[in-house]
This record gives sequence, structure tokens and C-alpha cells, in this order.
Amino acid sequence: MRRRDFLAAAAGVAAVVANPASALAATEQRPGAAGLPDLNLGDFPVVARVRARKALEHLKVLSDKIGPRIGGTESEHRARDYLVRELKSLRYQVSAQPFTVPDKYLARIGQWQAGASRFGSLGVTVKAPFVEVVDGQLPDLTGKIAFYVNAPVGSAHVHAAIERGAVAVILGRISTTANKSSAFSPTLDRNVTVPVIGLAQVHTEKLRAQGSGELTITTTHYPNLTSYNVIAERPATFPWRDNGVVMVTAHYDSVPGSPGANDDGSGTVLCLELARVLRYLPTHKALRFALWGSEEQGLLGSRHYVSQLPPEEIARIKGVFQNDMVATSHDPATAYWLLSVDGADNATTQEVRAAAQRLGYDPRVHGPVARGSSDHVPFHEKGMASANFSWRGEGGPAQLEPIYHTPEDTIRDNISLERLQVSLELIGAAAYRLATQR
Ligand SMILES: [Zn+2]
Repeated sequence: MRRRDFLAAAAGVAAVVANPASALAATEQRPGAAGLPDLNLGDFPVVARVRARKALEHLKVLSDKIGPRIGGTESEHRARDYLVRELKSLRYQVSAQPFTVPDKYLARIGQWQAGASRFGSLGVTVKAPFVEVVDGQLPDLTGKIAFYVNAPVGSAHVHAAIERGAVAVILGRISTTANKSSAFSPTLDRNVTVPVIGLAQVHTEKLRAQGSGELTITTTHYPNLTSYNVIAERPATFPWRDNGVVMVTAHYDSVPGSPGANDDGSGTVLCLELARVLRYLPTHKALRFALWGSEEQGLLGSRHYVSQLPPEEIARIKGVFQNDMVATSHDPATAYWLLSVDGADNATTQEVRAAAQRLGYDPRVHGPVARGSSDHVPFHEKGMASANFSWRGEGGPAQLEPIYHTPEDTIRDNISLERLQVSLELIGAAAYRLATQR
């Protein structure tokens, strides 16, 4: 028996002693699997212990309680504090790594979050009745809020509404494709003297259905922002011989207006649950969990992290498992995609594929195919084995759920516990196996 087999066996035995019922259950067909599992000894302590329900408790805090987590703002900082506290309570070495990010322009309209135009007035509250402007027919808008749905490109309609007396302008969008529109910060050709806000589709539809009534709009400019990566690490079981590091990662920020339950609260709580389960299992490699800030603004957190890694640290990183959108309940998203930047296999995609074969999930796993758009990209660019893992449609990884990046990305509307459980088992088994290798 080689050393790593011994380690895996020891871990497996420990699991049986600690929890005989669940270890036994690990040998049964997995939820949504095509067949019976054929686990190796190292899989048992992971598969028998990971619980989507435990991850869901964290998601309730991040998505329901905190809600949208906008990079660099106080909402993201609240999430950071929660993650630091939870990971410290698991006895990891935890740090919050700061980096500066661009200003944000946000709005509130009643209880909804929207984007504010940086060309409109900021730091103001307007309370007034709204009127939908139809077919460019401008009524007298004195003292009113002008509401446009799918306004033409350009700024002329905004200027026209203000000339007719509008005290604020709401730009709503209803998408003509399957994907619903997000909140946005409207761009104008010059500064105007009233607030101008960009509303998500679901709120546009609600406002239209409401027809009339008084609204309260507040716009806020957030300058001088600092966003944070949360990094948690534990050493290898035998730290006197350095075999490198395995990273399991996700981003914890979300886009304006979206409570980010699936994008990417799901990946974040997967990391927390795997941090719990893997904490005391024997490994030859160190384990590092990284939760990125400000991914939605262009991978800012992971780019910052990679940019400050010295070459000897880059050489130590043996695999980066990024988990972005790992629990959608959207019916057609039945494919679990292995997404490497260049479409080629690497240590992470190979381990997840192998774990899928052992667990009986193989028919649901697709790829690797080439796709960026998440925090695995900066690692790939510096030559580290990395990939993103995510549930999407069978037709390709561009087939995201229609409510992606919208206010409807909530636990209620967009989280499947079964898919979260499969994601936990796949990444847990794969990352653990890579971590037990020398
Ligand atoms: Zn994401």
C-alpha cells in the first residue's frame, strides 16, 4: 500500500467510525446519478459528509439577508465579514486581501435596487408620481417621473422628458430574447440635472402593470471603494515536505439588483461546506479556499490575487477549482460543464471527470470546452491548472438560466439542492483526491 492509499484508507475508516449511517449511505446510488457509485477510499469521508442543506444555511445569510453584494460597497463588506467569521470558526488561517475598485452608481426605487446614471444627479431622493411615456408622445411631465420601456438608443428621449418638466427618468428594459434584462447604469451624452436610473426587467414589468402611483427614487454615488478577497488556508498533514496547494474558489459579489443566489452565492457556500468537510482530512497538499470580490466588474479580485503571487507561489498551486453558478434550478440546465480557458484537459478537469465516473454522474458531465468569463482565467494565463465548473444547458455553456444577473436570482426561484449536492460531491471528491497526491 502506497502512502497516499494509506492516508485515504485512514480517512475512510475515520469516517465510518464518526458516522456509520452516512458512510454507508455513500455507497448507495447518488441523487440524480446514472448508476451505482464505485468510490475509492478517499471519496468516502467527503461524499458521506457533504450536505447541500448545510451550505443552504450560509446561502440564506448571503442571498436572503444581505442580498445584492456590490463589489467594494458596504453590502460586499458585510458578506466578507460573514465569510471571515465562518472560516475562522473552522480554524483556518484567514485573511482579507484588499484592492481598489471603480466607483459605483446605484439607485433605490422603493424596495428595489437599480443602477443610477453617473450623468444624472446623485445623492438625491425624489418622490413623485410616474408616467409611462409611450411612442415618444410627451405629455406635460412637470413634477413627474418619466418612465420609458425599451427607449431608443441615445439620450434624446431623456433630454426631451426633462425639458417637459420630468423630475427623474426611469429607463426600463424588457428583453426580446430568452434572457431577462438586468439593472443597469444608463450612459448619457452629457450631464443632466435629475436622477436617471436603469431598471431590471422584472421591475419594469411590475411598474408597467402598476400603471400609476407615487415612487421614491434615491441615487447614490459610492467613491473610493475597496473590495476584498477572502483567503482561508490549512497546511498539509505532513507540512515538512511541501507538495504544493490545491485551491477551491468562487466569487461572493453579485451584480446590482441581484441577490446572487446562484451567481455566485452557490459557489461561495460550496466552498464553505467543503472547507468544513475537508478541514481535518489527511492530505499531502495544503488546502486553500479563495472567495473573490468584484468578479462581476471584470475578475478584479482574482486578477489582483494572481498579480501579487511570486513565481515560487505560482509553482506551488497544483489546481484551481472555480465554482461559478453551481446550483441553478432552471429545468434545462441538466449539464454539468467543465470549462477550461483553452478547452484542454488539466489536473482539475481530469479529477472532476474521474470523480464523476466513480460517483455515477458521468453522463451529466460535459467538456472540457473553452470558456472564460470567470475567475479561473487569471490562473490559466499564468500557466496554473484551472477551470470553472457550472450547471448549464445541454446545448452549450452559454445556455444560462434566463434570470441570470436579475433580481430573480433568489434561493426560491433559482436554487436546486440536488444540483448543489452533486456539485459538492464532485468538487469535494476531485479536490480531495488531488490534495492527497504527492
Ligand atoms: Zn458569476
